[in-house]
Amino acid sequence: MSHKSAEQLNAEARKHLDALLPRKDALKPKERMAIPAQEMPAQDPAERRRNVSEVALGYSQEQARLEALRCLQCKNAPCIEGCPVRIDIPAFVKAIADGDYQKSVDIIKRNSLLPAVCGRVCPQEVQCQAPCTVGKALKDVDKAVNIGRLERYVADWERENQSFDVPAVKPETGKKVAVIGSGPASLVVAADVRREGHAVTIFEAFHKPGGVMIYGIPEFRLPKKIVQMEIDTLAAMGVELRTNYVVGRTRKLTDLMTKDGYHAIFVGTGAGLPKFMNIEGENLIGVFSANEYLTRANLMKAYEVGKADTPIMPSRKVVVLGGGNVAMDAARVALRLGAGEVHVVYRRTEVEMPARVEEVRHAKEEGIEFHLLQNAKRILGDEYGRVTGIECLRYELGEPDASGRRRPVELKGSEFMIECDAVIVAIGNDSNPLIKQTTPELNVNKWGHIIVDENGRTSIPGVYAGGDIVLGAATVILAMGQGRTAAKAINEYLAG
Ligand code: FAD
Ligand code: SF4
Ligand code: SF4
Repeated sequence: MSHKSAEQLNAEARKHLDALLPRKDALKPKERMAIPAQEMPAQDPAERRRNVSEVALGYSQEQARLEALRCLQCKNAPCIEGCPVRIDIPAFVKAIADGDYQKSVDIIKRNSLLPAVCGRVCPQEVQCQAPCTVGKALKDVDKAVNIGRLERYVADWERENQSFDVPAVKPETGKKVAVIGSGPASLVVAADVRREGHAVTIFEAFHKPGGVMIYGIPEFRLPKKIVQMEIDTLAAMGVELRTNYVVGRTRKLTDLMTKDGYHAIFVGTGAGLPKFMNIEGENLIGVFSANEYLTRANLMKAYEVGKADTPIMPSRKVVVLGGGNVAMDAARVALRLGAGEVHVVYRRTEVEMPARVEEVRHAKEEGIEFHLLQNAKRILGDEYGRVTGIECLRYELGEPDASGRRRPVELKGSEFMIECDAVIVAIGNDSNPLIKQTTPELNVNKWGHIIVDENGRTSIPGVYAGGDIVLGAATVILAMGQGRTAAKAINEYLAG
């Protein structure tokens, strides 16, 4: 991957665009496919590994319009099938090619409340961009139309031009809805239900709203001001926000209905319970769950040395266990918190890694080392209970397992050591258990996920659920999609 500056990329795009724009409607498919896929300008890896500013800098107007010209406006639009919320992709992309950014963002917002977020964090390469005709014709998914980057461009354009108004709210209905948690599923429910004129209160356990978008995904991938703006919009619509409020502890879920008069409830409490490996040494000082590490860094701003209430002491050498987005985030945060070396240990190969390809590439560019087909057997410590290293085993790939990925098979007698002073366990999260523990009437499956019907209805009348608490650890866009479905059902329930 080249490291051209934003100015260079813009100048190249300008040149192309000047030649193509006058005949944009007459461009033949072959000519469109000959336009180079626009590279995302990014901070230099050597600089960004020590700062928390956003890594991907966003397209210039010229790059966005040129990228939009690559779209073939396919009649069957396979890209739409790949988007969980079915955004009219050819239409919004065409509006960018026409230079009508407001129209473009309006089209996206019919289906998605958070385009600036999804444009940044959606796993586009396995969703909307995977079936793109351009990528297929060029036999390279990286050469598909960069739908996510275009979505980000217009969403940022709208924010920077402050051209949006607070969405209209219908006259008050006198009905009250409680929304528990403030992640993407809950924010969508709050907006869609409030628009119908119902009073909405969000109850959030942390002191700041936004869910994983605030406490999990780091600033350098998703600037917090973007999420905050969405929350400010909800507040301007009249949504009440109660933080430091743990439903199940501060108040029982059913009490919100029977004692506090809420007519309906949405549960969007996410999957924030970290999984551990259950190996020797996981209680040593210097072993973190990725959740704790990222929450301290993002929410408690542990990187503000001297100011943070819960700082994380810089480590010399950090080992991260896992291969998903959470592992990549933890590794890259560790680097930014001052670690000398960061190593990711993953028991399969890079092909099976669940992390987004772009995140793995960014991590490598920043100097993070990958140890593939390896896993921790135990964590070792000194006489003070502090981590000194991990004992690892080597693996090879066997037959595919239930997930369709090839199963890692341990190589007997392959033990070896990696010396380190911190270990971050990033092997996944389970659903938050508090509400189910304190609400026996709520049906959950064997993984503890709340069971809902196709409209997000739970086993308790008037109580709906969606997002990671239903799906298990999933994605922002899937959580939003479930929020939209549940909001529609809540509005119908209240109208009835
Ligand atoms: P969440 O975002 O989990 O929010 C739930 C909220 O509920 C939290 O704020 C929590 O404090 C609150 N809560 C919990 N229990 C209670 C209670 N009892 N009372 C009150 N409040 C409560 N997805 C992507 O699409 N792309 C990515 O790149 C990506 N990267 C990720 C990186 C990390 C580090 C993590 C952890 C996840 C990532 N995800 C990513 C997944 C994505 O963030 C989640 O799927 C999504 O946020 C789920 O949304 P949600 O609305 O279900 O809940
Ligand atoms: Fe693609 Fe996500 Fe946007 Fe849908 S919401 S078009 S999947 S980036
Ligand atoms: Fe455009 Fe690709 Fe969608 Fe076709 S599949 S309409 S080329 S984005």
